[in-house]
Amino acid sequence: MARKKILFGNWKMNNTLAEAKAFCAEAETLTAAAAKKDLIIGVAPAYLSLAYVAEHKAGLKVYAEEVHYLNHGAYTGNVSIPMIQEVGAEGSLVGHSERRAYEKENDFDCNLRLKALTKAGMGGIFCVGETLKEFEAGMAEDIIRSQILVGLMGISEADLAHIIIAYEPVWSIGTGKNASEEIAENICKYIRSLIEELYSKKAAQQIEILYGGSVKPVNIHGYLAQEDVDGALVGGASLTAASFKELIENC
Ligand code: PEP
Repeated sequence: MARKKILFGNWKMNNTLAEAKAFCAEAETLTAAAAKKDLIIGVAPAYLSLAYVAEHKAGLKVYAEEVHYLNHGAYTGNVSIPMIQEVGAEGSLVGHSERRAYEKENDFDCNLRLKALTKAGMGGIFCVGETLKEFEAGMAEDIIRSQILVGLMGISEADLAHIIIAYEPVWSIGTGKNASEEIAENICKYIRSLIEELYSKKAAQQIEILYGGSVKPVNIHGYLAQEDVDGALVGGASLTAASFKELIENC
């Protein structure tokens, strides 16, 4: 099965329900524009907008930004897989660097979430990436290797088909400091080689790997032109339908 080109928006703690509704009013236009480019598009809204966006998605993929690995229990403030499933989400982001930094999520937490999601037949966009200090110390590949080894522990090749990996260097997220196309391609290629080592050549050829970090309409084309970059995970530039449309048009 050939890999698809994917453009996914991570809204973070942005877009109120009213703003999410305004975005959804343009969802059909966006999916039509994406279809012309053979592009899969999706968004991860905040929980309060998740049900509305899932109901008015017009062909968009809709993921949660985060999910707990248990189905229910005494976990104040958390949301479970059955809850996001019930409102129509198809999966969740896992291990976004902001969750790792501010909520102290580690690779073992990511592993529990990915296992729970795939067991429920849901998708996971597994975010990995190094900090600036690690990048400058030449440790990017080592960091990503350990994030992937632990994150995918115990996940079968069949379940891996539900997972997308997003390479998001922490130093480029929301900073306007993009990783060069060359860095993005080299790390995405490295991730693919790691998947071959852990699973098989077939799994490596099939897994979709995204780049994320200050992707904008002006620079998206260069990333998507790279052989091992199958798309982009976009924060700031994905928030309005107008900007999302520009991203699609420039792919
Ligand atoms: C992100 O939130 O995953 C992201 C890449 O953000 P931004 O595009 O704003 O850097």
